[in-house]
Amino acid sequence: MTIELRSLSQSSLQDYADCPYLFELRYLQHLDYPAVEAEPALENEKHQREGTYFHRLAQQYFLDVPVESISKLANSDNLERWWDHFQHSAEIAALHQMPLLKTETILSAPLPPFRLVAKYDLIASDGEKFFIYDWKTYRKRPQNSTLALRWQTRVYRALLAKAGDSLNGGKPIAPEQIEMIYWFADYPNDAVRFPYSADQCKRDWDALSALAVEIKSAASFPKTDNLSRCLFCAYRSHCNRGVRAGDALDAEIETEADESFDLNFEQIGEIEF
Ligand code: SF4
Repeated sequence: MTIELRSLSQSSLQDYADCPYLFELRYLQHLDYPAVEAEPALENEKHQREGTYFHRLAQQYFLDVPVESISKLANSDNLERWWDHFQHSAEIAALHQMPLLKTETILSAPLPPFRLVAKYDLIASDGEKFFIYDWKTYRKRPQNSTLALRWQTRVYRALLAKAGDSLNGGKPIAPEQIEMIYWFADYPNDAVRFPYSADQCKRDWDALSALAVEIKSAASFPKTDNLSRCLFCAYRSHCNRGVRAGDALDAEIETEADESFDLNFEQIGEIEF
């Protein structure tokens, strides 16, 4: 199969890991197949929209928009609760004092034959360490071991080490200076932190490089054998893998909206980094 795709992201890599055929349908065929991903459908969609909106509130906070103005925008039960947790978090208040705060920042590096691209909710630095923050609005807090294995955790740290020079006065950021933190809007005192090391960075970059070559040279993209994954996939009727969606609470991490990525991957290669 000829692959026109030029960029990979944590989302597309995670989709490939979950089901190569899902990757093919979504990123190569661009097949629009809007089946319900999880039930109850309306409530799940609303939750995803609120999650996206919460990211905007957090961004405005770090852009120094007055808290009172942001509070007026938290206009649903979920948003009100998440924003209340956010604005009363000592961790968030301490972050706000850091000299470097970059919200919604995009980094990119060559990952032959593709580019690897990521959009970060927040990169903060106290001058020594660099903290990658990702806001999560899950109803159920995932296990730390699950998050550690997600491509997001690996891609975000590796890419900051490879492509974060501009945030560090033109010098490379050492992996040991990097920490990734998932901050849960419904569990504000239970964030999880993933430090990084040179060994982990090498392991991640080697794995990413091998995966990029594998994707580019793949002769086919088989369907997953894990049928439970299909329960939460928008393409399940296309694949003849069932009609009814699974319960959102059972697979929130798999069905989360790509809260931070609204760029067209095919445009990213045109942007200078
Ligand atoms: S329904 Fe199952 S086999 Fe089909 S794309 Fe989705 S995860 Fe893959």
